[in-house]
Amino acid sequence: MTELPLTPIPRSTITDQIVERITAFILDERLRPGDKLPSERELMVRLGVGRSSLREAIKTLSAIGIVVVQIGDGMYVGSGQSAILTKPLSWGLLIGEHTVREVVEARFLVETELCALAAERATDEDLAGISARLDAMRAGRDDAEAFTQADQDFHLAIAAAARNGVLYHVLDMLRHIVRVWMFKTFIDDPVRHTGIIDHERIEAALQAHDPDEARAAMGDHLSTAGNKLLNLLAELAATEAAEAALAAAVLGEMEKEPPALTEVSVP
Ligand SMILES: [Zn+2]
Repeated sequence: MTELPLTPIPRSTITDQIVERITAFILDERLRPGDKLPSERELMVRLGVGRSSLREAIKTLSAIGIVVVQIGDGMYVGSGQSAILTKPLSWGLLIGEHTVREVVEARFLVETELCALAAERATDEDLAGISARLDAMRAGRDDAEAFTQADQDFHLAIAAAARNGVLYHVLDMLRHIVRVWMFKTFIDDPVRHTGIIDHERIEAALQAHDPDEARAAMGDHLSTAGNKLLNLLAELAATEAAEAALAAAVLGEMEKEPPALTEVSVP
């Protein structure tokens, strides 16, 4: 008889899910910074979670500026968008590693085909525009922000040259997330250097109107960049989990809170 792999569900899984649900709620309800959120009790009931898991999630959300807690008054929506950009370290925690994998995969599938189509359809004008973006990347190699912008423009210029409005909009939809992705992986200089080499290969394939090479060059570029991002997130998640555990231990020591009676049986 084989033993079922019954291992405990890590508490962080529940916390991550609460973080995702509350973030989705804010987005779905189109809440604005300063809008009041449901009370702790109501959130516990609606999410079906215990107080300690909820509080852990709220700590994460307030650390990254999505939620602002006013002691004795309640919880409000923070200015999350800019917080995601100014605190990119927390980005992985916010949208979750699972979602990041899906974004990496979606971008790979869409952009390799867009690049192949662009190799077939790009006009001389399109190609000049793409080369100009590459020049901007070279000029901005000492500045992660400028480099990120030029990289994003380069990819969008290729997508536009593919002349498929539907696929272009799929890529455009991923743009906000992809931008943070680019910025995170470009902080260190060596990545920017290999980034330029990758883009030169893509540009050469487009200039040669070679769809197979264009697809392969874009695929290699996105695999390298995607793996870098996922490795980075895994490292950050480990660091942040350790920091969160330490912070929780310190806070628990300070608050000496009695166990909540309303705690439900989620692990
Ligand atoms: Zn790129």
